[in-house]
Amino acid sequence: MNLYHKLKWVDSNYLCPNCKRLLYSRIGEKEDVCIERNCLMYLSDLIFHDVNQAYGLRKEMEETESELKLRIMQTDRKLFAGFLQQQRKIVAKSILREGEALFKRLLAIDEMLVLLNSLNIEGSKHDLSLFEEIMHGYMDFFDKMCFIEDMENKRVLLSTDNRVYMLKYWNVIMQFYQTYGIVAAGESDRESVFRYAEISKQTREKKEFQLGMELGELFEQEFDFIAAIKYVFERYHRTSKLHSYDPSGLDIVVLLALSFSIKDDVEYWLHESLNRLYTINTKGKGNFGQFISEYVFSLEKAPIIVFDGEFYIVDRETILLYINYLIGRNRRMVEGQSGTGAERIMKKKQEASRIFEKYIRNHLRVCGFKVNDEPIVVSEHNEQHEYDVIGVKEDTREIVLVEAKYRDFSPSSLTGETLLQQELLDQENGLLSEAIKHQARLVFFRKYPERFIHELSLKSLFKSYFVSTWIVTKHPPLISRYKQVSITVFDDFCNSFKVR
Ligand SMILES: [Zn+2]
Repeated sequence: MNLYHKLKWVDSNYLCPNCKRLLYSRIGEKEDVCIERNCLMYLSDLIFHDVNQAYGLRKEMEETESELKLRIMQTDRKLFAGFLQQQRKIVAKSILREGEALFKRLLAIDEMLVLLNSLNIEGSKHDLSLFEEIMHGYMDFFDKMCFIEDMENKRVLLSTDNRVYMLKYWNVIMQFYQTYGIVAAGESDRESVFRYAEISKQTREKKEFQLGMELGELFEQEFDFIAAIKYVFERYHRTSKLHSYDPSGLDIVVLLALSFSIKDDVEYWLHESLNRLYTINTKGKGNFGQFISEYVFSLEKAPIIVFDGEFYIVDRETILLYINYLIGRNRRMVEGQSGTGAERIMKKKQEASRIFEKYIRNHLRVCGFKVNDEPIVVSEHNEQHEYDVIGVKEDTREIVLVEAKYRDFSPSSLTGETLLQQELLDQENGLLSEAIKHQARLVFFRKYPERFIHELSLKSLFKSYFVSTWIVTKHPPLISRYKQVSITVFDDFCNSFKVR
């Protein structure tokens, strides 16, 4: 079945009404464009650069990279390593304290730290202003490479008359980054940053760290922060690769122990001291060589601990920041660990999604609806359906059937090439299949009224009620309707029902 037929019953502001592919728009302009050449909506004078054919640009970037490498190789390795460590620490500190920072700077520094491991650096230049110049040069290079990646995966398109077109849905994704605080300092709109803060607060209990405590338990309270860090580190393909650690519970224990033993702003550790800390905290069960090759000397992954040729330079903020990220990636268990970090984070997300359902119920109640406290399961003739929320308002004879979807985007789906498939069309998690299921619930509801008259103790004839069907989402959804199902973000859902 082609895309148009699959999405025939769908309304969306983000899809072309003619071919149902993703729309693009110019920043600050209202007109949307379809980029499908075979589509009737396509404007023939609009031609986009094919970044894969941009050999000149690639050559230019390669030259810039070689120049930067050359400049790095002329530095005094020890001092330059210390400088980068210090710069990264400043960003890490700001992320932990303020919840926002110049993330791109952090990611660019991570790349430079890998270069530090892989280049043969024997220079003697130690001028601070030169270090800063190299760093800014590299950040500029990194930024351009990210822009090229954005073009490659069609988040952004550049027309031949040099206008930038963004995926229209990108505005929603930017808002989503903002709710997680993943925006550069000063860019964010504080109001939307804290839109869902209440929900994560409710799933959080303050816990103090005690030795011997289950690690996952300590970090559970940070689950939304952990999710945010994942989006930062995995926003681009090149940064995902840079952070593709596969940590065991033991690795995290060691890094945590290290962070707690740091007393000064920045400390310089000798090989023997780090080895000793490792052996004590792993009770001899780990492999120190493997540990440092993954987290210090890797030629592909960003070093969490910086080695300056003599010392391991460590600071608490940087290590804590990376631990938060590692917890979310922890899939390998060690003896005595009762659940992986990834599982615990998942559990927390489910908890948040139940609270979200509760918010929906509460809103309907203040609007005069009688609402079930728990999902209602009804079966008849081998067919079974679960209803998250059913609200009944007797005086106006209204019934609402609501399905709550408190879900974030998967980091890999946030490109022009994957968004439609992963967020909308995916058989398991896609919004379309959710909508089809919910439409089936409505059909079932109408087919077996007697079951519901009893279940909901309706006071009037079933036929006399007006039934509306909703899917309520955490972020503005890609589609706004499927057949009789309205699909809407929480705030808009609330505005559709007046408080009494
Ligand atoms: Zn089109």
